[in-house]
Amino acid sequence: MAEGPTSIDLRMSLPIDRSLSPRIDASAIASHKLTNIPADHMFIAEFAHGEWRKARIQPYRPIPMSPLALGMHYAQIVFEGMKAYRMAQDTIGVFRTDRHHERFNRSLVRMCMPEVPLELFRDAIHTLVDLDRNWVPPGPDAAYYIRPFMIASEERMGLKAADEFLFMVVGGPFRPLYQKPLRVKVEREYTRAAHGGTGFAKCAGNYAAAMYPTKLAQEAGFDQVIWTDARDHAFVEESGTMNLAFIINGAVVTPALSDTILDGVTRNSLLTIARDMGLAVEERPVSVEELRVGLLNGTITEAFGVGTAASVAPIGVINIDGEDLALNVSPEKTMFTLKQHLNDIRYGLLPDERGWMNVVDGIAT
Ligand SMILES: *Cc1c(COP(=O)(O)O)cnc(C)c1O
Repeated sequence: MAEGPTSIDLRMSLPIDRSLSPRIDASAIASHKLTNIPADHMFIAEFAHGEWRKARIQPYRPIPMSPLALGMHYAQIVFEGMKAYRMAQDTIGVFRTDRHHERFNRSLVRMCMPEVPLELFRDAIHTLVDLDRNWVPPGPDAAYYIRPFMIASEERMGLKAADEFLFMVVGGPFRPLYQKPLRVKVEREYTRAAHGGTGFAKCAGNYAAAMYPTKLAQEAGFDQVIWTDARDHAFVEESGTMNLAFIINGAVVTPALSDTILDGVTRNSLLTIARDMGLAVEERPVSVEELRVGLLNGTITEAFGVGTAASVAPIGVINIDGEDLALNVSPEKTMFTLKQHLNDIRYGLLPDERGWMNVVDGIAT
């Protein structure tokens, strides 16, 4: 289709309205001075009358929203968190789009929201990242954070499952969250997720409900809590918004997935790499008592959080019922070998044998 008088051009079915006043400062991105701010463009699509419409990319800007939008009152909101990396030869790759898409849809079904077809999810993200490719910072560790989300936009006084939604994608350059080893507290009172609840879904309400216990832990000098099971607070589940893993007698041990544990893409990737490296991997319940004994007798040699934001976040202290139990965090630990291997795939320094990287070069042109 020929260029029109406006800045709009059409690529298949996804129109792009390019920003006429880009805010990009490439040297600031390259030197990591510009971080955690939104890039120039965003994706938006509207769901009404049972179908997705008006999918488009436009300059990043606030969106009009009714004060009575159902999502703003009843938290019918789901999101994803994923990353794009600047790979060797300045190729840009998005990490495991398909797996994030599957999880997005699982969350959406649980929250009575319409699933997003893979093609729409993939087109939205890959086109946006290619368009804003100059915002993707170089490694090591830095990346472009991608935030797909959906919100119930239907205007309505009173509770109901909405029939109208917005699906959007925004993103921007990002440095890892945690640099220092974490001090974490095993949470024995508050609960993140219970069986039959929404713990496996990346839905907004889970994060609001976690803020207060997290604030209390931070006031007591900890970075995060380790969530435990809702019934007895006897088994560990996750740490903050990360999955949790340990090295116990040399094996990689992580709580088995359930409806109270979020199925992390980083968790899955690191376990896959660990198995490929010949390490023993155990997905099973891990009790607080096992932790206490193992930390005291030295059979537990490492503890770490895993998630897209920090990749691998080493844990230096675990507080159990008021007692600080310390872990030695040194560079030769297994968690750093696993992280390095994962990063080498993401930055294109190792062959991508499992097809985890989605190269987006040229998609938006
Ligand atoms: C997002 C998230 C994780 C990590 O998932 P990744 O796909 O690895 O980023 C773990 N736990 C919770 C509660 C989360 O929200």
